[in-house]
Amino acid sequence: MEQPGGSPPHPARDVADYELLFDCVHCGLCLEACPTYKVTRAEMDSPRGRVYLMKALAEGRAELDDDAARHFDLCLGCRGCETACPSGVRYGRLIEDTRAFVEANYRRSRGERMVRRALGMIFPYPRRLRAMLAPLRLAERLRMRGLIRLALSGRPREWIELLPPLAATPIARKSAARAEALDPDAPAVVVHHGCVTQVLANSENENSERILAAAGYRVTRLRGTVCCGALDLHSGNLKRARKFARENVRQIMQSGADALVSAASGCSTAIAEYGELLKDDPELAGPARALSAKVRELSGLVLERGAPKFREMRCTVTYHDACHLVHGLGVREAPRTLLKSIPGLRLIEMPESDMCCGSAGSYNLTEPAMARQLARRKAERILATKAQYVVLANPGCEFQIAAELRRRGSRAKVVHLADFLAMALAD
Ligand code: SF4
Ligand code: SF4
Repeated sequence: MEQPGGSPPHPARDVADYELLFDCVHCGLCLEACPTYKVTRAEMDSPRGRVYLMKALAEGRAELDDDAARHFDLCLGCRGCETACPSGVRYGRLIEDTRAFVEANYRRSRGERMVRRALGMIFPYPRRLRAMLAPLRLAERLRMRGLIRLALSGRPREWIELLPPLAATPIARKSAARAEALDPDAPAVVVHHGCVTQVLANSENENSERILAAAGYRVTRLRGTVCCGALDLHSGNLKRARKFARENVRQIMQSGADALVSAASGCSTAIAEYGELLKDDPELAGPARALSAKVRELSGLVLERGAPKFREMRCTVTYHDACHLVHGLGVREAPRTLLKSIPGLRLIEMPESDMCCGSAGSYNLTEPAMARQLARRKAERILATKAQYVVLANPGCEFQIAAELRRRGSRAKVVHLADFLAMALAD
C-alpha cells in the first residue's frame, strides 16, 4: 500500500515504471480527451482508471484477469491523455510497458493469439505483406475486388474494406518523378519508408521526398528500411521493437542525414523515442539518442526553408490531426500553415480534429467494434464541414477514414499531406 507522505512501497510486480505511476494525481482532466472513455463512459476505460489499474496490479491489489486485460486492450495508445494531463503523466511509456507485462502474463483465447501472431509475422515485413496481398491486387486488376468483398463476412470483410485501392492511383503515379537533389550543401534529409507504408502507400514516401527536395533539402535514400518497431511497441513485443530499433539506428546514422522524416506519424514518434527504448544498450544508447533528436515532421521542415511555389487549388480542405503527430510530437500548426499557403485553398476546421479515428496502428484489426465507433464519430465531424478533401499525415488514419467515408457514399477525398502538397506543386 502507498505510504501517506512517505516514499512509494516496493512494487510486488514489474508492470511499468512504478515511480511514474505516482505522477497521476487523479484530477480527471484527461477524461474528456480519451476516446474510449467518450464512448464507454466507464472509469476503467479512461486514462485515470488505467493508471489506477496499473498501480493496483503492480502492488498486488488486483489480478491480471480478463477484465483487466480488456481495459488495457481497449486503449488506443493515442496519447490524447498526455496532451490533456497537467501533471505530465507519461502515459505512452506506461501503456507500452504494461502491454509487455500483459503479453507475458495473460493467456489470450486461441483466436486472438492467432490474429495477433499473424499480424506480427506479416505486417513488419514488406515482402510478406506484398505476397499476402498479391491475390487481392490481381482481383482488383480483374475488377473483382467488389465480388470478393461481398463473398466475405465478419472480420475478413471488414479488413478488406479498410485496404486502399492496390492498383496505382493518379496521385501515386504523379509521385513517380524522382526527388532531385538541388543544392549539394543543403541539409540532408532521409525519409524512413516504413513497412506497411511502402507497400500500401508508397506515394507518400516518394512525395515526401519530392516536397523536401522542392523546399531545397538534399534528399538521400537509405539502402533498405526495416520496420520502426511501433507495431511491436503497441502490441507488447519490446524485444523485437528493440531489435528493429538497433538496425534502424545503425543504418540511419551511417547515412549521415541531418534530419529524418516519416510519412507515418506512429513511426516518427517511435523513432523519436529510440533514445528511451535503447537507453540501456551499451553500444547504441548514444547513437539512438542522437537519432531521436534528428526526427522531424515534413511540414515543419519545409516551412523552415520557405514553402515551395504552389499552384492555385480552388478547394475546401479539413485537416485531421493524426494522434502521434499531435500528441506524440506536438505538431499542430505547421501542416495547417503549409496548407493555407496554397493559393485558393480554404481550410475548414472540424470539431475534435485531434480525437483518434480508431485506426491506431493495428487497433482497427484487433478491436474492430471500438475502432468503428470512433470512425463513425470522425466521419460525422468531417461530413459536417462539407470539405472536398480530408488531409492528414498518417496512412493508417487515411485508410480508416476513407473506408468509413466510402461506406457512407461520401465523395470527399482522403489524401495524405505529402500527396496533397505534391498535387499542389507548381510545375
Ligand atoms: S492513450 Fe488514448 S485511449 Fe488510451 S487512455 Fe490515453 S487518451 Fe485514452
Ligand atoms: S493522467 Fe493526468 S490528467 Fe489524468 S487523472 Fe492523472 S494527473 Fe489527472
